[in-house]
Amino acid sequence: MFTQKLASNIKKALVDFPQVKVIPDYDFMYLDLHEAPEEAVIEKVKPIFGIQSISPVYIIEKDMEVAKKVVLDLLSQENLEGKTFKIMTKRSDHTFEMDTNQINLFLGDAVLEAFPDIKVQLKQPDITVRIDVRREHLMVSLKTIPGAGGLPVGTSGRVMLMLSGGIDSPVAGYLAMKRGMEIQCVHFASPPYTSPQALEKTKLLAAKIARFGGSIQFLTVPFSRIQEEIKKSVPEAYLMTIMRRFMLRITDQLRENARALAIANGESVGQVASQTLDSMVAINDVTNTPIIRPVATMDKLDIIKVAEEIDTFELSIQPFEDCCTVFAPPSPKTKPKLEKARQYEARLDVEGLIREAVEGTVIEGITANYTTAVETAQQEIDDLF
Ligand code: ATP
Ligand code: MG
Repeated sequence: MFTQKLASNIKKALVDFPQVKVIPDYDFMYLDLHEAPEEAVIEKVKPIFGIQSISPVYIIEKDMEVAKKVVLDLLSQENLEGKTFKIMTKRSDHTFEMDTNQINLFLGDAVLEAFPDIKVQLKQPDITVRIDVRREHLMVSLKTIPGAGGLPVGTSGRVMLMLSGGIDSPVAGYLAMKRGMEIQCVHFASPPYTSPQALEKTKLLAAKIARFGGSIQFLTVPFSRIQEEIKKSVPEAYLMTIMRRFMLRITDQLRENARALAIANGESVGQVASQTLDSMVAINDVTNTPIIRPVATMDKLDIIKVAEEIDTFELSIQPFEDCCTVFAPPSPKTKPKLEKARQYEARLDVEGLIREAVEGTVIEGITANYTTAVETAQQEIDDLF
């Protein structure tokens, strides 16, 4: 199930290279490139979770003279000055005429003869030439590129990620995906208080994290009406708490519709008023659904570091309004009381408002290739000149 899932995630990431054949094996996977550009394919595969390492491998016939030629050819493309190397042979075909030692010696001698600049070093050499003698062929590889690690996205089940346009929730989504969770993004938009650009920005963030495993469903929830209603009848200090309770209820309903098992968000303990433990108690009250908080214990600077690594930071800090900030009271309660939150909320038609928001939710698929109309237009202009 894990390898099948990984294979399908890789295929999705390689839509631009349909000629690449993905061949899953027990604990590794071949990608037969069929002339697709190696570098470009590796770039697409590198962020996919569930891959420990990636090696460009050359498959050749089981002939040591051919192997020698390929090894020398590959090494001649490298800068070898002052470098050390070793040959590391693995042999699963034990009937092959040479054993691993003989192969190491044969190829090692050939390399030393052809490249006098290079020295043998068995412990931590600069270059490791890997030879794998298999039943049907021989494989040669020079490079091992670290993969993204983690588990294949989708193998841990589906969660609803509450995605704002901020710094924390995209990082939370990335970390959830790393543990194999498939995510669907739920975004609360409050037009006309929030702009179309704010929504686009969030979709671009979803596209950024889609690179880590396939396509993502993006759900836009109309939230203005609820915010207006809350503002009308709830004391200012509790606006934030009640608003969050609504967000969570709606997300939970959407979760049920999507047959997802949990909810993920970007809350970090103590970061703002709505993220104190007291606030979490008052907000979390509306559901029993497990809530995954991948960045709960991370400092802001550490979250930012990850955001930079996954290339979401620059987008996140673009100054577009969020529905929470638009309606944020000047001094939200840092220690809201659960009883009071329930009491104020009872003044509203909770069920009706939630039903309306869920029914008005727009769902669209977002892939890593998603670009906005603005970007596409800009690209067309750039292409002209
Ligand atoms: P972020 O950087 O993710 O926006 P934040 O530090 O700004 O987080 P809050 O605005 O309090 O914190 O939001 C806490 C969490 O609530 C977010 O990480 C996100 O999961 C969720 N959230 C906030 N606003 C929205 C929104 N408009 N749509 C969906 N989820 C939201
Ligand atoms: Mg925010």
